[in-house]
Amino acid sequence: MTDLLEHARPIDADAPQYNASLVRRADQHESLAAFWVRLDGDPVPFEPGQYMTIGVLVDGKVVQRPYSVASDPAVAGAEGYEFYVRLVEGGTFTPLLWRLGEGHRMRMIGPKGKFTLEPDDDRIHLFISSGTGNAPFVAMMRALLREGRPRRAVFLNGVSYARDLGYVEVVEEWRRTGDYPVTFVPTVSRPADPLNAGWTGRTGRVETIVGPVCDELGLIPADTVAYICGNPDMILSAEATLLGRGFPEASVKKELYWPKGKEPRGVAPRPGASPIE
Ligand SMILES: Cc1cc2nc3c(=O)[nH]c(=O)nc-3n(C[C@H](O)[C@H](O)[C@H](O)COP(=O)(O)OP(=O)(O)OC[C@H]3O[C@@H](n4cnc5c(N)ncnc54)[C@H](O)[C@@H]3O)c2cc1C
Repeated sequence: MTDLLEHARPIDADAPQYNASLVRRADQHESLAAFWVRLDGDPVPFEPGQYMTIGVLVDGKVVQRPYSVASDPAVAGAEGYEFYVRLVEGGTFTPLLWRLGEGHRMRMIGPKGKFTLEPDDDRIHLFISSGTGNAPFVAMMRALLREGRPRRAVFLNGVSYARDLGYVEVVEEWRRTGDYPVTFVPTVSRPADPLNAGWTGRTGRVETIVGPVCDELGLIPADTVAYICGNPDMILSAEATLLGRGFPEASVKKELYWPKGKEPRGVAPRPGASPIE
């Protein structure tokens, strides 16, 4: 009950801290959605793989979280910055974000982050993601495609249910047309669940298919660089697999979406909490 009441807290419609607007949202289902947020002034340049921090004010206090940008930097002025977000039950910010309609004012700062591509790297790019951890890889491929220099990629995305897979049409279209040389390898971790009825693709958590995929596609440390993003347990497990196969640490880049072992902390105000949650 407390949570419901806290989630019903009014979100400030206007505030001096707001510098952006939610210009579009597209709900994939009740707990997954893409959000486009556009800055009031000129867009701030960013590198694919970096993140922005978006937030709203509740009772005059900023509530904000970082999100990887999924869009190409080139469209930030016209379309805004695209974020692909999962609603976290009991989370602090995402239940607020889910209540926002198009046009709502927001605060957005950034970019930040070092989870970016190496310049002129002609190795095969092994992108490994769980859930919405696919977002930075979509931004990287979109930008490389626009620049006319796509890099051979193997793109793994693990989800619990097939309906959670994102950007499938975008990536499948690249593969089908040959516009982007990408091998897309989605996997679902709960194949026996009725929600996955009819799924004929790979099964198992994404970290369990890293080794088999490397073997099948001949991905070796000499000509492969790996980027891993999303759930920290997945990241550490996939990293261990790659290091065990002889990948040097410098060839395995990681973006953890939360610290290992951390659970959603809910929305109840904590004594002495910072005004920025
Ligand atoms: C650099 C960076 C980039 C990020 N980019 C994205 C992104 O593109 N898309 C996205 O959905 N999230 C992303 N996150 C996570 C995001 O910042 C929030 O932690 C998340 O939205 C939950 O916020 P909350 O306030 O609702 O939950 P909180 O009250 O802050 O609770 C956080 C907890 O929620 C759980 N959690 C956090 N993120 C997820 C998730 N994606 N799926 C399942 N459980 C989760 C974890 O248990 C975590 O400890 C990113 C995090 C970082 C550090």
